[in-house]
Amino acid sequence: MNLSVRSCDQCGRSFKKSGPCNIYCSDLCRFWSKTTRAGKCIEWTAATDKDGYGKFQTGKHKCQSHYRAHKWIHEQLVGPVGDEYVLHKCDNPRCVNVKHLFLGDAADNHADSKSKGRHSHGSKNGMSKLTETQVRQIRRKYDQGMTLDEIADQYPVTVGPIHQIVTRKTWKHV
Ligand SMILES: [Zn+2]
Ligand SMILES: [Zn+2]
Repeated sequence: MNLSVRSCDQCGRSFKKSGPCNIYCSDLCRFWSKTTRAGKCIEWTAATDKDGYGKFQTGKHKCQSHYRAHKWIHEQLVGPVGDEYVLHKCDNPRCVNVKHLFLGDAADNHADSKSKGRHSHGSKNGMSKLTETQVRQIRRKYDQGMTLDEIADQYPVTVGPIHQIVTRKTWKHV
């Protein structure tokens, strides 16, 4: 038996360890091990920077600065970013779901954060990701027997807020 071979903690594939604390077969597996499903978003659970974006360091560039997690994953799965910004369609800086990311320039980035600012001014009790119609749908689906997990899959929020909605701890006015 070769002790330098182990199975990846993320995908289960056997791989050759390149160092003693190697538990993932690739940077991608190490990346996904730091994320969690949150509705349609995939949220970064490790360190974030001052703007709330996930931070990711790869083995090859340990002595260089951190990558922004959403930028790194975009480069791995979609293509090089160059001088452009990787922006979020979902308003969730921790999100690393490439389906929610798009490229834009500095002007887009500015417009994007401005529209987010407007968005949050109009929100009530911090639940700005949902509309009153969606809240009513969520309660109806729950009454019809859907689980919190199934509901969270269909909306841009996690199980926690869904639970608070169906137990009427939030959105009491709806
Ligand atoms: Zn793996
Ligand atoms: Zn997202």
